[in-house]
Amino acid sequence: MESLLELFPEELPLEGFRKRQLAHWIWARGARSFAEMTDLPKALRASLEERYSLSAFQLVEAYPSQDGSVKYLFTLWDGKKTEAVYMPYENRKTVCLSSMVGCPAGCTFCATGALGFGRNLTAGEILDQLRAIAYHQGISPRDIRNVVLMGMGEPLLNLDNVLKAARLMLHPEGLALSPRRVTLSTVGIPRGILRLAEEDLGLRLALSLHAPDDETRRRIIPTAHRYRVAEIMEAVRAYYQTTRRRVTFEYTLLKGINDHPWQARALAGLLKGISAHVNLIPFNPWEGSPVEGTPRKDILAFAEELKRLGVPTSIRFSRGRDVGAACGQLALKAPPSLVPPQL
Ligand code: SAH
Ligand code: SF4
Repeated sequence: MESLLELFPEELPLEGFRKRQLAHWIWARGARSFAEMTDLPKALRASLEERYSLSAFQLVEAYPSQDGSVKYLFTLWDGKKTEAVYMPYENRKTVCLSSMVGCPAGCTFCATGALGFGRNLTAGEILDQLRAIAYHQGISPRDIRNVVLMGMGEPLLNLDNVLKAARLMLHPEGLALSPRRVTLSTVGIPRGILRLAEEDLGLRLALSLHAPDDETRRRIIPTAHRYRVAEIMEAVRAYYQTTRRRVTFEYTLLKGINDHPWQARALAGLLKGISAHVNLIPFNPWEGSPVEGTPRKDILAFAEELKRLGVPTSIRFSRGRDVGAACGQLALKAPPSLVPPQL
């Protein structure tokens, strides 16, 4: 069955104002069944139901964290699974979405990397994570104003589907999101970054740098053997030149690996001439993780060194650690103590 979530509002299979009604049900009301669409004639709903699907998932399980964030585990129609996280901050609701089942990049500090690659998600599957979360939270999909593509997977290795999903996020009859509120995080695939610059959707770019030098980077990020820091930075500069958007550099601090003061200085040097913001991420441990996080006092010292050198820096304390929903902990596991409410 064809998924309606794969179609742009102008492509929906109805005529005239019915087309707009249907788009509204999907993206503004977040309907998960045709039965909900009470202002469409019954016969029309029945014929849509025969031909099209509205949900990318067989099963949606929710695991609330103590801190208010909620981890969602989705079972796709082929039985594979993926995850997303809902983070309701005071006045902005954010979702962290996945672009794949697992991830082929295999970064040593990341639980998703340890899973290996399952498959790419379709645009509909990427978007339905947000819709299903909104439905479960009893809000409109359009009430979610911030999207980070920082869940499972490397978005630039599934770029066609990610771009399609992003276009539907920005579409005024889709999720109508501002591009400034959509952040794509990448391990650093230069040709993907350049393509993103070309498409110029205005999305925010976050680069998972984690080390300023190739040698250190190769110890923790296998794709660093293929793409050197200099090549990645060249692509990032091109992105900055076209979009004029400040680029975020993510840096997960790992004890004895990338947390030396000289690395802070090298990082500051690397970012000269670029409008950058460094996000230091304390390492979130997971079962079997082969690396250790930098102690808090050294995280603060690393941040101080960057600030001293004029680099805008913040420390990101991840949410959802207790349910395995924090950065790098997504590994398709239910926290042991919780019984999932079914959607
Ligand atoms: N594949 C993309 C997006 C998903 S990962 C990327 O790598 O950017 C989102 C962020 O979490 C990345 O910056 C990643 O490096 C970081 N991360 C992964 N595992 C982590 C862990 N265990 N603790 C803290 N941050 C982690
Ligand atoms: Fe993949 Fe990102 Fe995890 Fe690396 S950090 S394995 S690129 S999800």
